[in-house]
Amino acid sequence: MTPFEYERASDASDAVARVASHPNAAFLGGGTNLVDHMRLGVARPDLLVDVSRLPFADITSLPGGGFRIGAAVRNSDLAAHRGLRERYPMLSQALLAGASGQLRNLATTGGNLLQRTRCAYFQDVTTPCNKRNPGAGCAALEGHNRDHAILGASEHCVAVHPSDMAVALAALGAEVIVLGARGERRIAVTDFHRLPGSAPERDTVLERGDLITAVELPQLPMAANSAYYKVRDRASYAFALVSVAAALDVRNGRVADVRIALGGVAHKPWRALRAEAALRGAAATDECYSKAVDVELAEARPLRHNAFKVALARNLMRMMLRRLTSGVAS
Ligand code: SF4
Repeated sequence: MTPFEYERASDASDAVARVASHPNAAFLGGGTNLVDHMRLGVARPDLLVDVSRLPFADITSLPGGGFRIGAAVRNSDLAAHRGLRERYPMLSQALLAGASGQLRNLATTGGNLLQRTRCAYFQDVTTPCNKRNPGAGCAALEGHNRDHAILGASEHCVAVHPSDMAVALAALGAEVIVLGARGERRIAVTDFHRLPGSAPERDTVLERGDLITAVELPQLPMAANSAYYKVRDRASYAFALVSVAAALDVRNGRVADVRIALGGVAHKPWRALRAEAALRGAAATDECYSKAVDVELAEARPLRHNAFKVALARNLMRMMLRRLTSGVAS
């Protein structure tokens, strides 16, 4: 690990000013991903600004319904929150599907959104990787790419985003509250992470010094009938091969509203907008579900080793819609 300086921010504005004015500084929250990367030589900040003691550890109800989740709320506390478990079960299930109990006790809401890909080549500093070293090439393109993207990738990067929580937040239409050098702004979770394009080194739309202070969940009654399902290589402590977060509102045999997002398939949580559009107003039948899912996956471009993900995503989405139709998804 290369040497670095450590400072503790006195408040959010102080934290933003310290990182914005330094060319190679990073915020330190739970540190569960950043410290690993510093040990591996993937990240080499020369200044860490500790934001873990800023007053962002509360979950509060919003006046119009919904919740505000402080950026420092630990993943385990968020998963256990009674109101969230009842009204947004997919979020609690997604959190509990991620990492391990020990890591969830340390990892924060803000940090979870900012965790970086687990592409093995990204974490191995001896291999070419455009995300770690722009312009170096992408070892995964012709390498072992079983875990990589089937949607939205580019010739520069085929990595996938690793967060489970972010997939549920994308489906729920959550917003990220960010404090930057020019003040506060809100970013939809679906716009927060980027597709790789020609700049895969940028995971999000954040600028240097931008600090996540909270995430807001909208009032969404249909989310009470929601679930998260994750397929992975072992029963725990593994990243998604494919995951699905879905909420469904069926009335009189037709889909009144639906939310679907996929994990493990793209550089960002993949909101299945085409499938949603095809489903709204359609009959709540397996035939309609299959057609809508196929519309979404028509754009899939699997790599040499991951064509199985297309079938897996198709089957998972259909299964989730069937289960939510009968109210037995959880
Ligand atoms: Fe790097 Fe992306 Fe290629 Fe992985 S897929 S080696 S993260 S450029």
